[in-house]
Amino acid sequence: MCGIVAVSGTPEAARIAYLGLYSLQHRGQEAAGIASFDSATGESSRVREAGLVSDALNEEKLTKLPGDLAVAHIRYSTAGGAGLKNAQPIRERYRAGHLALVHNGNLTNANLLRERLFQEGALFQSTIDSEVIVHLIARSRAETPDQQIADALSQLEGAYCVLITVDDVLYAARDPYGYRPLVIGTLPGGGLMIASETCALDIAHATYVRDVEPGEIIRIRNGEIESVACLPGFVAEPQPCVFELVYFARPDTRLWGYTVDRARRAFGRRLAQEEPARGDIVISVPDSANSAAVGYSEQSGIPFELGLIRNHYVGRTFITPTQAGRDFKVRMKFSPVREVLAGKRVVVVDDSLVRGTTSRALVNMLREAGAAEVHFRLASPPVRWPCFYGIDMPTREELIASGKSVEEIRDYLGVDSLGYLSPEGMVDCVRENGETYCVACFTGDYRAPLVDAEAGLAMSSHC
Ligand code: AMP
Repeated sequence: MCGIVAVSGTPEAARIAYLGLYSLQHRGQEAAGIASFDSATGESSRVREAGLVSDALNEEKLTKLPGDLAVAHIRYSTAGGAGLKNAQPIRERYRAGHLALVHNGNLTNANLLRERLFQEGALFQSTIDSEVIVHLIARSRAETPDQQIADALSQLEGAYCVLITVDDVLYAARDPYGYRPLVIGTLPGGGLMIASETCALDIAHATYVRDVEPGEIIRIRNGEIESVACLPGFVAEPQPCVFELVYFARPDTRLWGYTVDRARRAFGRRLAQEEPARGDIVISVPDSANSAAVGYSEQSGIPFELGLIRNHYVGRTFITPTQAGRDFKVRMKFSPVREVLAGKRVVVVDDSLVRGTTSRALVNMLREAGAAEVHFRLASPPVRWPCFYGIDMPTREELIASGKSVEEIRDYLGVDSLGYLSPEGMVDCVRENGETYCVACFTGDYRAPLVDAEAGLAMSSHC
């Protein structure tokens, strides 16, 4: 998962990047970091710390990040990948200057590349796939940073958005499939901002200009944006991730041409048409399903109510094994509103079902709170396949829909009825201009080659 930001052409670069990270906090909570470069002094600096942005960065740390150029990163924890050594930005010095890099996405050939580089003598400091990119740039025989970066990126497979600084020059690039989002904006006082989501531009009052296109490498030097290279492997059908719309991105973000809230409402409305339910109230599993539940309510005419409240202050909590066994984690995160639920036929809308464990505990909670019936509706199709392109998903065996029929899942959750949005229905809602999407988690149709997986190599931890 993860989120990235770059700011150039303003003496407030690190501070604006910090604001951007705040808006991208939903993309990762494990660590946050910023690297800056000061064109006046040639000084490069970096801060990276574990925790939420509010814990990881503060006034004192921001004063240690002078300069007119900054790249920043927010890290999502993936299995085996925790620890500060895996936090970004990566910062190194190589023959062309000071290099800093942040990456969002997941490379599908990182382990093969890592093994080759290792055999050639490269020393790795982390276990993240992003470090491979830095080695490839530094070892490229090409002459200029433009060419070195193009050379490195052309060897990658899978999903990546990268922001790279080489001294005072900023590069932004997106893989040829365009799996993850990356947008460019102009800052009100001059300067540019690039970020994973438009909500990061909004907090800085930046004006959206355009997306970095799939396969494009952009160079920003002295305030000028130039498209310097097109990555090989031009893909006729871009594959932006539909799951960003379903679950991951923030509702106020504009993504793949749609405001996320609008897309989710459309999923909810379509779901109400495809899977109607006889209910007294519609509730959402907050916050990710709020928009879809509103859509379901609008379409069905069943009133939307706030039946579940989410505690936003849970964070990482110590839970004893016995507490964990009694759905304690879910109880810490969600509470039922009894007066809303008691005696009601409740239509619960969630955005997606992954393992099914959270949902099962939630259903228990709703019944204990007096719900007369529980009708579970999902604003996406059954998730049957793991994601190799940057969304953290469990293995195939752990995905409840990969081994169970809808009826078996209904039984497992203990609900009166269960209904999923169809894959066609989902894509129809966001195909006003004939857009194509990566829907591999629903269909198993993986377009970017799964090089490491096919070679029997485990996935490296990613971002
Ligand atoms: P579960 O009931 O365990 O299948 O969890 C489903 C919940 O997890 C849904 O409410 C989703 O909003 C949320 N979810 C979906 N995808 C992910 C993901 N990749 N990581 C964490 N949570 C997710």
